[in-house]
Amino acid sequence: MTAKKLGSAIIISGPSGVGKSTVCAKVREAFPELKFSISCTTRKPRPGEVDGVHYYYLSKEEFEKRIANGDFIEYARVFDNIYGTLASEVIDRVMAGEDVFLDIDVQGAIQIQEAAEKNGLLKKVCEFIILAPPSFETLENRLRSRASDSAEQIEMRLAKARYELSFFRKYNYLVVNDDLETAAANVAAIIRCAGLRTDRLPEDYLK
Ligand code: ADP
Ligand code: 5GP
Repeated sequence: MTAKKLGSAIIISGPSGVGKSTVCAKVREAFPELKFSISCTTRKPRPGEVDGVHYYYLSKEEFEKRIANGDFIEYARVFDNIYGTLASEVIDRVMAGEDVFLDIDVQGAIQIQEAAEKNGLLKKVCEFIILAPPSFETLENRLRSRASDSAEQIEMRLAKARYELSFFRKYNYLVVNDDLETAAANVAAIIRCAGLRTDRLPEDYLK
């Protein structure tokens, strides 16, 4: 049983403030070897962020050149900046049998779902998870606790959250981020199950 397996591409998205970064950090503890897809962005690095580790930071011109070059499997405008996933971050990895984890917004996840309808490899390897808050009131409190947005921005993020969560049926899994440990354990369980799927195995796997 040495024939090569494909890796999984685990895509997690959900509204701003739902706890994606927090849950992803816990998942990283459970799977230290799991590769995260490094996205490109036109936003400026925040203090402590490193180019090539947190994101590849590109100018708007560089980003647009790479779009024209067909380098992205998805890209989306999120709050005045462009974010995108390089095909090389996902396709090369899963072909090499490695799992890859993507934290991207809902527009981007839906683009990958649409691409997967026409691309047999993506269809085989992608698992889509939406992270939801236990209630909108909790989401509002989390956005406030982050203390990084004005009251107006929080209103805007909440309205956007309702819209984004309305797409939950497009995802394979819905994980509620109420208790952090439980949410991270549920994401970890999905990653484990994804690694056991038969569609990632070649026909001659058991020969
Ligand atoms: P996102 O990456 O989705 O925008 P963050 O991970 O930054 O969200 O989380 C938003 C805020 O909610 C942060 O202050 C974080 O500490 C808090 N938070 C995240 N998950 C939980 C949880 N399960 N219980 C309580 N607070 C949480
Ligand atoms: P932040 O600027 O806080 O790092 O991320 C803002 C938002 O952009 C988050 O919702 C995050 O999921 C999303 N995001 C990060 N990378 C990508 C990407 O490559 N594609 C898309 N569509 N969204 C992304």
